[in-house]
Amino acid sequence: MRLSRYFLPVLKETPAEAQIVSHRLMLRAGMIRQASAGIYSWLPLGYRVLRNIERIVHEEQARAGHIPLLMPTLQSADLWRESGRYDAYGEEMLRITDRNNRDMLYGPTNEELITDIFRSHVTSYKDLPLTLYHIQWKFRDEIRPRFGVMRGREFLMKDGYNFDVSKEAALHAYNRHLVSYLRTYERMGLQAIPMRAESGPIGGDDTHEFLVLASTGESGVFYDSEVTDLTFGDREIDYDDVAQCQAVLEEFTSRYARTDDTHDEAVFHERVPEARRREARGIEVGQIFYFGTKYSEPMGAMVDDGQGNRVPVHMGSHGIGVSRLVGAIIEASHDDKGIVWPEGVTPFHCGIVNLRQGDGAADAACEGLYKALRAQGLEPLYDDREERAGAKFATMDLIGLPWRITVGPRGLEKGVVELTSRKSGESEEMSPEAAVARIAEIYTGV
Ligand code: ATP
Ligand code: MG
Repeated sequence: MRLSRYFLPVLKETPAEAQIVSHRLMLRAGMIRQASAGIYSWLPLGYRVLRNIERIVHEEQARAGHIPLLMPTLQSADLWRESGRYDAYGEEMLRITDRNNRDMLYGPTNEELITDIFRSHVTSYKDLPLTLYHIQWKFRDEIRPRFGVMRGREFLMKDGYNFDVSKEAALHAYNRHLVSYLRTYERMGLQAIPMRAESGPIGGDDTHEFLVLASTGESGVFYDSEVTDLTFGDREIDYDDVAQCQAVLEEFTSRYARTDDTHDEAVFHERVPEARRREARGIEVGQIFYFGTKYSEPMGAMVDDGQGNRVPVHMGSHGIGVSRLVGAIIEASHDDKGIVWPEGVTPFHCGIVNLRQGDGAADAACEGLYKALRAQGLEPLYDDREERAGAKFATMDLIGLPWRITVGPRGLEKGVVELTSRKSGESEEMSPEAAVARIAEIYTGV
């Protein structure tokens, strides 16, 4: 993309309404624009990041064997009356009446709708296990929408639902989700720690939240410092292997790590030596639940269990805060100049800064780099505007592309350009070909 033809409305002033750094940087970098309280338009740069997060989620769901579909945002109130949640959900639910006076609602979550789909089509254990998911906009009329996309009213969520013939099988689905979520967040450059949590209006006994440690997080967290040493990495997991998934769950959840809802000071002291006790704040970027037959029973989602019985199906639901993640990643990765995107989610793979637009050699070298990078399947953002070098650097630093290639007449006389890491700030001179090769190498496997 050539910046002169792009739509990147960066702001010079720090917006006064934004209280936390990710919100400020998203506004300043021209990623979002508030449409009304807690509701945002995603401008091109922000949209690219959102799409990258979605792509990673889809890829990791596919790896775990989960199947994508798409359910609507608007739902019929009648389904929610069947589960008993229509009245229970309260003021957070946006209720709508259509022209025929039918009660509708903008879905805050989809347990009822997916259970209805399931009961209409599946009748036998032979069709199980089954996990269906979608990435769809949700609406929750939060009392205090704030912090930009972190606590929106309209927000994008991945929500998935497993259907299994027994509790045992459903707990394997739970573990499988835990494993796939660990991998998903790590690919986004995040450490998200599974913590024992409270189930809230979704209901159920088993539940973990995934928290990214950040001082601006809304949840208080208490944990054994050893949990921060754990990484999933690129280990190969067979998602159908019950023992393997269980082992990962135990590895990542056996140490004390709880949110303020479930924290127990006495247990904390008993289980964790003082030197390892940590109290901090965290951002909830996902949650997994096992809730058994809470929806299948009242809604009649029954299957033949192969032994002549009709039994209610065992379920769980599993959510990732896709739009919240954009803010969470920035909270975890920025400096005083702007965003520092992890390579997995960056909106462009690298920037090209032309220090002397209009200079024949500099323009030609930039064009050459631009084409060569694109030929490698990479998307560079080429700053081809007639601007001072300082302004171009400031924009690149603000929008946070992990790599920048700087091209100027002086370097070109020696046959070199400069490759700079946004994270370390370190620069290295090399030939344009070497810079392209280096960037292509960095992104293989990302
Ligand atoms: P919270 O406790 O933050 O209100 P929740 O526990 O009610 O969230 P879930 O039902 O677990 O939310 O939804 C799954 C994920 O969706 C959450 O882990 C979070 O990342 C995201 N999410 C929930 N509410 C919002 C919101 N208002 N804005 C943006 N993302 C949200
Ligand atoms: Mg939650």
